[in-house]
Amino acid sequence: MISFYPGPSRLHPSISLYMQEAFDSGILSVNHRSPEFIALSKQCIHFLKLKLSIPEGYSVFYTSSATECWEIIAQSLVKKHAFHIYNGAFGQKWFEYAKALVPEASFKEFSAEQELTIDSILTEADVICVTQNETSNGTYLDKGKLSVIRNAFPQSLLAVDITSSLGGTALDFASADVWLASVQKCLGLPAGMGLLICSPKAIERAEALNEKQHYNSLLHFHEKMQSWQTPYTPNVLAIYLLKRVMEDSPSIAETDRKVWASAQEYYKLLSVGSDLRLLVKEASLRSGTVIAVEGEKNMISAVKEDAKKHGLLLGNGYGALAETTFRIANFPSIMEAERNELKDYLLKYL
Ligand SMILES: *Cc1c(COP(=O)(O)O)cnc(C)c1O
Repeated sequence: MISFYPGPSRLHPSISLYMQEAFDSGILSVNHRSPEFIALSKQCIHFLKLKLSIPEGYSVFYTSSATECWEIIAQSLVKKHAFHIYNGAFGQKWFEYAKALVPEASFKEFSAEQELTIDSILTEADVICVTQNETSNGTYLDKGKLSVIRNAFPQSLLAVDITSSLGGTALDFASADVWLASVQKCLGLPAGMGLLICSPKAIERAEALNEKQHYNSLLHFHEKMQSWQTPYTPNVLAIYLLKRVMEDSPSIAETDRKVWASAQEYYKLLSVGSDLRLLVKEASLRSGTVIAVEGEKNMISAVKEDAKKHGLLLGNGYGALAETTFRIANFPSIMEAERNELKDYLLKYL
């Protein structure tokens, strides 16, 4: 079965090799305060920054999930207001978690067929939260949009959810302060780890707020990361796998070109369909890494079922779109031959 599920997703093709390596090396039984762990963690972050073009001055923290990162931002970086602007289910879920911790969190919903506009953003927000790649509906915000928000609100931190784009498309990390993701989507790793990437300005804010009430307060992560460590025992296997995947990856610029070229093929192919159609009509808003296809309920379930018989696992729709869409992960771990198999298969429905 080839998985096109947008998370947990098809694993990077070398994962089984890297897992065996991790096991054989003994690192999985090593204490997380030992020099061996510290060396691994340091290398992992080195390769991550190198391959994904993350600025040297930014900090990278290992968490346990993207969801945990949502909470860390709300508890450790917000004094009063968090402002969330979203067009889909993940952005909304983030807002709901934040609201539980920050009573004055507020939100604005925008249409998945329209560009995010900055006039509705609350100016006095401590943190502005956006989902760069909305996994539920296959829309994305381009780099320019993030810079516009950041430049318009220099007092706020800009926090960006990149769970389904980190490692797949090029991001301009200098254009925001906080970036969060988990590893089981675009990075093609087994689930069980999140990443939080912070600018110096975000760290300064954490220091100014001095919030240390939680096991996962950002300042605890920051303090331990001075020596490449974590406040709690981390997922050492995931750190090992991430290090190896990054070490063997091409630069993000190269991956970005391939991912977008493949996305354009999907979009071209699917734009002629009538029973199966692209969910997002506005071409400039369509994601490079998650492709959402809509159709009648019966059609969608029939295609998913039949595809499965052909060894192709399509991603279910998500949230309100669960029954009328399916999603295709266009992640770099999916081999070209696998993508071609799906593209050939889809042709018969168009
Ligand atoms: C999957 C996903 C999450 C949640 O990830 P977890 O690892 O389950 O916490 C958050 N945001 C987006 C955009 C996602 O796609």
